[in-house]
Amino acid sequence: MSLFQSPAFEDHEGVHAFFDRDTGLKAIIAIHSTARGPAAGGCRMFDYANDQVALDDALRLSRAMSYKNAMADIDLGGGKSVIIGDSRTQKTPALFQAFGRAVESLGGRYWAAEDVGVSPADLAAARESSRFVAGLEGHAAASGDPSPVTAEGIKRGIELCVRKRLGRDLEGVTVAIQGVGHVGAYLADKLASAGVRLIVTDVDQEALRVVAHRTAAAIVAPDAIFDVDADVFAPCAMGGAITTDSARRLKGKVVAGGANNQLGDLAAGSVLAERGILYAPDFVINGGGIINIAGEVRALEAGSTFDPAWVEGKLAHLMKTLEDVFDRASRESRLPSDIAIETARERIAAAR
Ligand code: NAD
Repeated sequence: MSLFQSPAFEDHEGVHAFFDRDTGLKAIIAIHSTARGPAAGGCRMFDYANDQVALDDALRLSRAMSYKNAMADIDLGGGKSVIIGDSRTQKTPALFQAFGRAVESLGGRYWAAEDVGVSPADLAAARESSRFVAGLEGHAAASGDPSPVTAEGIKRGIELCVRKRLGRDLEGVTVAIQGVGHVGAYLADKLASAGVRLIVTDVDQEALRVVAHRTAAAIVAPDAIFDVDADVFAPCAMGGAITTDSARRLKGKVVAGGANNQLGDLAAGSVLAERGILYAPDFVINGGGIINIAGEVRALEAGSTFDPAWVEGKLAHLMKTLEDVFDRASRESRLPSDIAIETARERIAAAR
């Protein structure tokens, strides 16, 4: 299938491929929409099977960022970047400096931040060669790691889902977390403090051990996480966790987590609904991190300092938006994800 006919392409304004001979950088920056403001979204470093898989990932993630930023009601469009490579063995500061030059060459149409496989130190290297890198430490406008804010939004979103679907508060509820990386680990801490019982999994045994020890969580093998007796399933690893198969295996009544693009196939959302499982659309519930980034971009553009109160206001508003999505889905007997996509598209169209 050609690029323009690919379902993931859907109206992308630009797709840019970068190669740097000296460092071996191979990166794709996808810009879905700048209607609401400069495109913003994380940079993912991953050992993709081939270029086509990397391109598809960039396109899907970039479109999701347009939807996410519209639902978070921030003045940013949607974009995403992927670096093709193994983040455990192929990272160097020079690679990220080259990535920064790629970002800079787009003249501010895209702001890069952190995603899977990329750390604050990597971003700091990229920032040496680009003004358009956010989510850093060490200056007045800096917002720092977005993951704790992402996790805070997910915790509040889980609380909302549990109230709506189970009619109770978080105390004593069991949540299964898939992936205890940046977002999953902060989420585990926050949920444990709220009296939630945790079941966790990860392919990284060390991360798993540390988080389980800190939060008294039970550990299960990666594939077993879909079968555990938990009220809530929180996908916080890679996309595609919810397939028709895994949706049928879940025992709880809520799916709410931080991963991007959680629905692995088109029918998975319907299977969840048929089984009475409330699904929090990923690009709504996980918007906390990009709100934090927007706070930095906003401060940089105004030459002012980062304002945590502005971030808190937007996060509280996002939770209200999530509740509105659920209420409308219930009134109209439609999927929350369909309502959220429709609303996001309307907001983007209105800004054009
Ligand atoms: P991360 O790389 O720090 O963590 C991901 C974790 O998932 C890792 O510990 C990894 O070992 C684990 N994992 C990978 N495959 C797995 C599998 N099959 N089973 C179990 N565990 C597996 O990434 P992160 O920043 O925590 O992001 C997690 C997800 O949330 C990603 O989908 C990301 O795009 C999304 N997200 C992150 C943020 C943020 O603020 N960091 C914001 C919005 C969305």
